[in-house]
Amino acid sequence: MANEDHDAFNEYLATRGVTRRDFLKYCGSIAALLGLSESVVPQIAAAIQQGAKLKPALWINGGSCTGCTESAAQADYPDVAQIVLEILSINYFETIMMAAGKSADEAMAETIAKGGYILIYEGSVMQGFEGQSLFVGGGPDNAGSKTGLQVLEEAAAGAEAILAVGSCAVDGGWVAAHPNPADATGVLPYLKAKGIDKPVINLPTCPVNPEWIVAMVVDVLMLGKLPEMDDYNRPTLIFGQTIHDNCPRRGHFENGEFVYEFGTEEEAKSYCLYAVGCKGPQTYTNCPVVRWNARASWCVEAGSPCIGCGNVDPLKAGGNWVDVGAPFLNRSRDIPVAGMSVQPTTVAAVAGGVVAAGLLAHGAGMVAAGRTKGGAPYEEMKAYDRKAKAKGGGK
Ligand code: SF4
Repeated sequence: MANEDHDAFNEYLATRGVTRRDFLKYCGSIAALLGLSESVVPQIAAAIQQGAKLKPALWINGGSCTGCTESAAQADYPDVAQIVLEILSINYFETIMMAAGKSADEAMAETIAKGGYILIYEGSVMQGFEGQSLFVGGGPDNAGSKTGLQVLEEAAAGAEAILAVGSCAVDGGWVAAHPNPADATGVLPYLKAKGIDKPVINLPTCPVNPEWIVAMVVDVLMLGKLPEMDDYNRPTLIFGQTIHDNCPRRGHFENGEFVYEFGTEEEAKSYCLYAVGCKGPQTYTNCPVVRWNARASWCVEAGSPCIGCGNVDPLKAGGNWVDVGAPFLNRSRDIPVAGMSVQPTTVAAVAGGVVAAGLLAHGAGMVAAGRTKGGAPYEEMKAYDRKAKAKGGGK
């Protein structure tokens, strides 16, 4: 890279309040996310600096709350992830692009015609009502308008790779939760059913973490390779360990120190949130490592039990995180012990019988000491959960 280009890029970073050191540190974290050694950091930095000259990307939205866009844009705090996304040639970004109408459509059509781009898809694929639950361009009465399904199929056909960002894009997410009237599903199952064979990289959670998007864009577009993926097409380096594996509250779990009720001394002491429904033991993401919002914090650190938004099953309808995990502050398959509810089988499967015994003993002790009112104040079951149970489904 010519010196003048190098200086111009550094100036660009400075205008966004980011130092060269911050930038290189960030490139180092991308290398770590991709399982690469530090020796490739200069290569990643150079690739990002030249990003605008490399392959373009399209970002299209299906049925979603656009929370993943918000997560990626981080509008009130520009950081390096945002800068990296800015300098990529995202030729079409439905929710935040300046262009609209015909010029926006043309930008997408030109990119698709040239081929060789990456498709970033946010939101669920709305199959119901013959695709008419989601239209781009006005609706069936407007000339040139298309269903979301048509847009996805056209954009997927010419893509080199597809990033399905957020749990909705992976398996329908909350949009596909029971009773799923729009027959929402994920990109991978939809394209498979249509016989469109493209590499799909699934990046679940609600919303997606922008650090993961940047890492995958660098991997696919700039380094020219696909990441190693698991059976659900999730990059193993990001989704290979549970939240529980890296949780800073893990020591309390091992000691049998749990929060049984919010607003108590145990909560103030940052005890483990397992007893108030934490899904960390069964949720595979590296949230505790990468964290969120410019690495400020993440759910469990902020005091909330993990609600398992990274749990996906793109190959099985009804496997989405809402159907599986709701009501979120409840635990599945609870059994009453000493006037409170525990889940010894899951604890035992995760951490062994000693911890299970610790949980039981500690919980019983809490109840005996009058420190709980006989169990966590779980949120009420939602109507559809009750109906599912009545029909013999649900948990
Ligand atoms: Fe952390 Fe949740 Fe595991 Fe407790 S159960 S250690 S809060 S991930």
